[in-house]
Order: sequence, then C-alpha cells, then structure tokens
Amino acid sequence: MTVKTAIENDSLPPQMPGEKVNQIFGAGEMAERTRTLDWASTPVGPIERWSAALLTTVNTLLASRHPMFLWWGEELVQFYNDGYRPSLGEDKHPAALGQRGKECWPEIWPIIGPQIEAAMKSGESSWHENQLVPILRNGKLEDVYWTYGYSPVRDLDGQVQGTLVVTTETTGSVLAKRELQQERRRLADLFQQAPAFFASIRGADHVFDMVNPPYQELIGHREILGKSVREAVPEAEGQGFIEILDGVYRTGKPFIGRNTPIKLARTGSQSLEMRYLDFVYQPRRDQNGTVSGIIVLGVDVTDSKRAAQVLLQTEKLAAVGRLASSIAHEINNPLEAMTNLLYLAQQAAADPLTKEYVMAAEAELRRISVIANQTLRFHRQSTHQRLVTLDELIEGTLSIYLSRISTSMVRVERRERAKRPIMCFDGEIRQVLSNLIGNAIDATKSKGGRLLIRSREGTDRKSGRRGVFLTVADTGSGMSADSLAKIFEPFFTTKGIGGTGLGLWVSREIVGRHHGYIAVKSRQATEKSGTTFVVFLPCDSAPRGETA
Ligand code: ADP
Ligand code: MG
Repeated sequence: MTVKTAIENDSLPPQMPGEKVNQIFGAGEMAERTRTLDWASTPVGPIERWSAALLTTVNTLLASRHPMFLWWGEELVQFYNDGYRPSLGEDKHPAALGQRGKECWPEIWPIIGPQIEAAMKSGESSWHENQLVPILRNGKLEDVYWTYGYSPVRDLDGQVQGTLVVTTETTGSVLAKRELQQERRRLADLFQQAPAFFASIRGADHVFDMVNPPYQELIGHREILGKSVREAVPEAEGQGFIEILDGVYRTGKPFIGRNTPIKLARTGSQSLEMRYLDFVYQPRRDQNGTVSGIIVLGVDVTDSKRAAQVLLQTEKLAAVGRLASSIAHEINNPLEAMTNLLYLAQQAAADPLTKEYVMAAEAELRRISVIANQTLRFHRQSTHQRLVTLDELIEGTLSIYLSRISTSMVRVERRERAKRPIMCFDGEIRQVLSNLIGNAIDATKSKGGRLLIRSREGTDRKSGRRGVFLTVADTGSGMSADSLAKIFEPFFTTKGIGGTGLGLWVSREIVGRHHGYIAVKSRQATEKSGTTFVVFLPCDSAPRGETA
C-alpha cells in the first residue's frame, strides 16, 4: 500500500522553488493536529504535496463549526474538525485523523462502506435522516442517531477524490421524540382504558375528534367521529346540551354537571333511555389561547343514582310501616271501646228505631274494624307462630267473603291438596289470603267469572326448597303492564277511595318474612282476561319475628 501511495505521490506535480507553501489554517485543536500530523506516513503524503482540492476542502472543513468529516483518496484517509470531535469519543479521537476509514470504523463499515463507495463512483450525494449508526464511544457500543449528508469532492479535473460528510448527531432529539410518542401513546391508552367517558370535540360546531370506549358505550354504538354533536347525538338537541356547549365555546368557561339527566337513544332512535351523568365540559385552547374545542369528561352515575332511589324507597316503606303500626295501635283501642259502648247502647235502647240505628252503626263499625285489620294488622305484634295447614286458613278466610261472593256473579272453585302443616303467623297468612281473594272478587264481580283457589305441596324450582304453593286465580279484568309494575307499591290502587293500595304491599312483606315469595301473571284481552297470584311458603324455615 505504501509503495503504491509513493508512486501516486510521485505522480503529483513536483514542487517548484518559490511556489507558495501549502498551509493549514486555524487555531483549533484539529487545525493544530492536522498541521502537525506526519502525513508523509499516510496514503495522502505530506501537506506540501496535497492537491489544491484536498487542501481547500480540509481548510474549509477545519474552519467550519458544523461537524464535518472527510474521506479522501482510494484508501479513504480521514479528516475531521473540532465540531466532529465529540461524536468520536475518546476511543477514536485523535487516532482517527489520517487513519484509513475501514481501520477506524470496523463496527460500521458494512453500513457506511458501500454508501461511501457508491457516492465516489456515481458522484451523487446522499442524505440520511435520523439513522441509527451505533459507534464505539466511551468504552462501549452506543446507539447513536445521525442526520448526515455525503457529498462528493472533486479535483480540478472534475474527478471525485473524496467524500465529505456533514453531519449532526440527533440522538437527543430522536430519543426525545420517541419518548414523546411513548408518552402520547400512554396518554391515549389512559383515555382508552379510563373508567371515565371521554370525548374531544372541536370547533364551533362541536365535531367529534376522539372518543374512548366508555363514551361509545354511553351513547350507544353509533358512528360519531368527524360528525358534529348535533348530527351524531340528535337527541341532545332540545335537552339543553348544545346550548351549554355553545356557551363553553363562546366564553371559555368550563361547565360542570352533576347528576344531570340526559335521554339517550342508546339502542337505536326509537326509544330514549334516561341516564344520569357527572361531567365537565372543559374548553380546549390553541397556542394563542383561543378556544378551539371542548373536552368532555365524566362518569355515568345512573346506577348509583338508582341505588340511592331504592334506598329512599325503602326508607319510605319503613316510614309507612311505622305509621301504619302506630295508627293500628291508636285505632284499635277506641274501636274496641266503641264496640262495647254500642253494644250497651243497643241493650239500653227502648225505641226500636233507635235500636235499628245503633245496629246499623255497629255494622259500619265492624266494617271499619275489618278494614283496619286487613290493612294494618300485620304491623301489630304477632308473637305466636302456629303449625297450620293452608286448607284451614283458606276455609277461615273464605267464610268472611261468603256473603260478598254469593251476592256477586263469582263462582269459586277450590282444589286443595296441601295437607302438610306449615309453621307461620297464621293471622298474617290469613291476611294475605284475604287480600288476594278480596282483590280477585273486586276484579271479577262486575262481569261475573271464576275464582280458583288451589293449594299443593311442591319444590320451589329456583331454591330447591320444599313448601306449599297457593294459587289465587281469577277471570276478572286483568291488569295493564303499567299497573302490574306498581301493584306492590304502597298506596298504589286503581279503586279510587274504595282502595287503600296497601293490600299487596302488606302481603308481600308478610310472605317475605315467611321466607317465601309472591309471583303474579296477568293479562287483559277480550274473553281471556285474568290474573293469577302464586304464593310459595317453605315448610322448613320458621318466619322472622316482627319487623315493625
Ligand atoms: P287495593 O286493593 O286497595 O287497590 P292492593 O294492593 O290490594 O290495593 O292492590 C293494588 C292494585 O292491584 C289494585 O288496585 C288493582 O289495580 C290491582 N290488582 C290486584 N289484584 C288484582 C286482580 N286480581 N285483578 C286485577 N287487578 C288487581
Ligand atoms: Mg286489595
């Protein structure tokens, strides 16, 4: 190699006496090193023999503060400036100066070698952005990113003699960008996975930019990206939400909604479903601080709201229970007193008309007693449980209704087979029977019809418990779906002042206390209307004590 170089150097024009001496300019470290290196021992030969092209290029390179690197000649002998030095690290600097390319960069020569050779051959330049070129630096192989350009350097004859590399290390910005991307992805993931709903909308028309799955879930799965709120959620119009969005967009003031009801077409446009939301409309601003959109963030609190309503309902029931219990207590004593007084009055009355009046008053009073007992009795202290058969209870209850039944067009059918006694507060179960039979008669009496009362032993399919089933079925008016949904609520009645709306509510409480349940089926259809109540009472479990 040295031999060949010597020949090449010999072929350079000999230096003429008096000719200007080639000089390396500049005061930096690399200028100094370049000046003092023993170039004669390298393929490019001593500085005095360098071609004008090499000398100019090297001086330009040394004068530049942009990191630059030069490969020169067939052996790709290296030059670089102070700007480039830090990229080399202690391992390569200063040995790289004057070194052959492939000796300096064994670890990356397979990457850059062909690039340099191609540039030399074709005379074309190349440009590489943010390329990972790992280099040995500070004692280890480091991942380093570079943006660099290769440019051919020609001699005076136009022959490509070298490759100039102007480069910038971009490791910092590449890593920063990558971090940013990861950060963005993390944020995006966060929005996607957040238990809160999130939507980003832009512009005065409120166009959906981005929504997460809980938001999609909330509004039902419809296409909304790229659409305005008006288009995508048309039912929001007329519920005040568009106006609020307009306000937030105009004023830049956030809006916070709590427990806000919204009707949403979640399952298609026909039916609207009420949801309750805690949410915020937060204005989004551009760099100039102008409002450019709105962030919607919130949670669907419908379930917890419903839970709160149920709790409220339960509290109401408890209050009604206490009220009923105290009324029963307050009423019963005077009723008993009045009954006794009327008895005495009847005995004492001499005049037959007075006697008749008193008897009529007594009858009305008995009615009051029955009503008070039917509706309120279950709240009275009933301490005694008894073993009784359902047949016994049905028999006793029906006897109260015999006169009503005989004066109506109701035909009673009885099918009783439950011979097994159950442990219960018999008065309470009698009250349930009384309520069901009373209701059935009410529903049937105007047109006439059948009333079926049946009992049997059996196993409850859901729980597997043994017990007795009581069925009270009628061919009466039946119930609408709306009524059916409410019949167990206290004070729900369709009988005006003729009803209390407490019968079924009380019945369900009683049956619940006996660990059983009431089920109901009803329909309204010409010729086929009717209602069936089924009560299940288990044999094996003793009822709970008094609750009120
Ligand atoms: P009330 O009898 O005082 O109205 P209930 O709680 O006993 O109160 O019954 C509530 C409502 O349920 C009744 O007003 C009636 O509308 C409906 N209902 C109950 N039983 C029947 C039935 N067998 N047929 C039709 N409707 C019934
Ligand atoms: Mg009733």
